[in-house]
Amino acid sequence: ALHTDYIRDHIRTVPDWPAPGVQFRDITPLLQNPKVFRVLIDEFVHRYFDVRPQAIAGLDARGFIIGSVLAYELNIGFVPIRKKGKLPFTTVAESYELEYGSATVELHTDAVQAGDRVVLIDDLIATGGTMMAGKRLLEKLGATVIEGAAIVDLPELGGSARLRESGLPLFTLVDFA
Ligand code: 5GP
Repeated sequence: ALHTDYIRDHIRTVPDWPAPGVQFRDITPLLQNPKVFRVLIDEFVHRYFDVRPQAIAGLDARGFIIGSVLAYELNIGFVPIRKKGKLPFTTVAESYELEYGSATVELHTDAVQAGDRVVLIDDLIATGGTMMAGKRLLEKLGATVIEGAAIVDLPELGGSARLRESGLPLFTLVDFA
């Protein structure tokens, strides 16, 4: 996209965080600068304006920040997919493997309706495990995830390729090797 370099230039790389050897891609500078924040959100608004999804589902926690603004701009609802134990009403749950241990994400059972077309959004795709779990949650409720969206893809980790192989189209703005 036209603004890829502008967006990339406002992502900060933090070496050795949260663990030695990890290069963390920090998106907070994108949110802090009002011009870049607007350009960023507008990329997603333009992508989904004519698609008319029924809802935006955001992944905990940075997916909430961009997903809620996107939903507001599209005049549709926002639903949060949260880490285990945070949602108060009845939930569906999905667990997935991490490098060490496992994680569980949850979604309220009334968050979407069967047949809804939903866009699933997060800040970044690494192994793809988080987005795959979110997709399964939405599918448990009978919704269709029409696309997964993220600011950043780390293609060398293979997550985006695995998600696409599973049949999920993806829209990402910036790749980091
Ligand atoms: P995955 O499940 O694809 O392996 O990891 C993606 C999830 O971990 C996303 O929810 C994302 O927010 C978080 N994550 C992992 N690595 C990074 C990183 O370098 N930068 C950011 N901003 N988030 C990351």
